[in-house]
Amino acid sequence: MELSELFELITYPLTIEDEDLIEKAYDFAKSKHDGQKRNSGEPYFIHVFAVAKNCAMLGMDVETIIGGLLHDTLEDTDATEEEIREAFGENILFLVKGVTKLGKLKYRGQERHVESMRKFFVAMSEDLRVLIIKLADRLHNVQTLQHVRPDKRVRIAVETIAVHAALAGRLGMGKLKGMLEDGAFPYAYPKEYAQTKALFDRRMPESQKTVAEVHSTIEKTLQDFSIKGPCVDSRVKHLYSLYRKLTKHQMDIERIYDIVALRVQVNTVADCYQVLGLVHMLWKPIPGRIKDYIALPKPNGYQSIHTTVVTEHGIIEIQIRTYAMNEEAEMGIASHFLYKENKFDGSLPPTSKKLGWLNELRELQSVVAKPGRFLEQLNRDLFKNRIFVFTPKGDVIDLPEDASPIDFSYAIHSEIGSNTSAARINGKMVPLGTKLQNGDIVEIITNKNAKPSNKWLDYAKTTMARRKIRAYIAEHGGLLQKFLVKE
Ligand code: MN
Repeated sequence: MELSELFELITYPLTIEDEDLIEKAYDFAKSKHDGQKRNSGEPYFIHVFAVAKNCAMLGMDVETIIGGLLHDTLEDTDATEEEIREAFGENILFLVKGVTKLGKLKYRGQERHVESMRKFFVAMSEDLRVLIIKLADRLHNVQTLQHVRPDKRVRIAVETIAVHAALAGRLGMGKLKGMLEDGAFPYAYPKEYAQTKALFDRRMPESQKTVAEVHSTIEKTLQDFSIKGPCVDSRVKHLYSLYRKLTKHQMDIERIYDIVALRVQVNTVADCYQVLGLVHMLWKPIPGRIKDYIALPKPNGYQSIHTTVVTEHGIIEIQIRTYAMNEEAEMGIASHFLYKENKFDGSLPPTSKKLGWLNELRELQSVVAKPGRFLEQLNRDLFKNRIFVFTPKGDVIDLPEDASPIDFSYAIHSEIGSNTSAARINGKMVPLGTKLQNGDIVEIITNKNAKPSNKWLDYAKTTMARRKIRAYIAEHGGLLQKFLVKE
């Protein structure tokens, strides 16, 4: 529990003032939690220190790290708001209060799932860092579940996968998502965990051998073709993610080729495609398994090229991306909090379009110092053009303001979009042109005979929906015209 352990995790330069403030928070939390114990019997301070370290590991700024150290002081100690304001300032007090408020939320199964997701999103819109402290808090709690009462343990584990990991994924924080899921998996679904782990252990040695052989061939080839500054390493699939994949393949581990995947990082996008060419020159790719998420990013902004090749040592997945894309995939939104100058040369900015509104949020935070004004400005400037709506299962879809159920259904799936026949908002049937409001729960009713019409173009605000509708009309034009006239 030495303070130096925390400093070692911070990868950006700290000023003397920063260091002093962190040390002050460390001492403050330590003395406030003095005498308190966790379920494990260890001093409570171990927990808040671990949360601060998690924040640092996620690349968060000094205020967030301090927020981590102090996150339980308001609720669990005699510390007052006044005391925290005086010692650490308004911003940090705001974070601690935010985490305290969120802490009162309890997951109560699927029916309340939408409600918890909604509250999380509201908290997030106040200051995203509140949410990140909460996730860092949950990570430590889920990693120490063995000390918790068994019934409570299951609830926390299931909730972690359904709410916290889902949110981390939504924010593009792949590393955190994987850690949360893997911490929760053994307690949430013990049988499935045991089965997955057994399959993993059986398959692992062979996969590792394949990777090692392929690794050296690739490294040599990159050198021969003068690819600048590549980094080749391997990543082992997270167990929960492996389990999810296994369920799609009848639990047949032989059909999963990325238990250990090789990851090639290079400087530029052009280099990525050159590496892909070299890989396919060396080995034959399996058709249908070449995925270009650089040209076509995943909805959460993930970018990378994946290809599965048949080598003389076995079948293996190779992932190719720039350093910036890797940072983005691992850290997600957290990577936007700190601008790291000149770390990457000539590659794409790590900002994906999908997360544009989160970037605005970050910019707004740095401009507006006072939390009160921040909120005010946030509502005015940011959420004037973005809304969050929910599927009945609690998945969050973000849409531009004035979006309609048509935009929503295309955002879910283009097939659902094209067959939209009716919509329910918060349980009530509404016309398809209804403007959605922030926080609405939207349910789409589809019908095989429902088809896009010109009228839909008036309802649709998103480019994607409009493009799909136009494409449909162009393709089925003649027939549709007749149909429309009758209507
Ligand atoms: Mn806590």
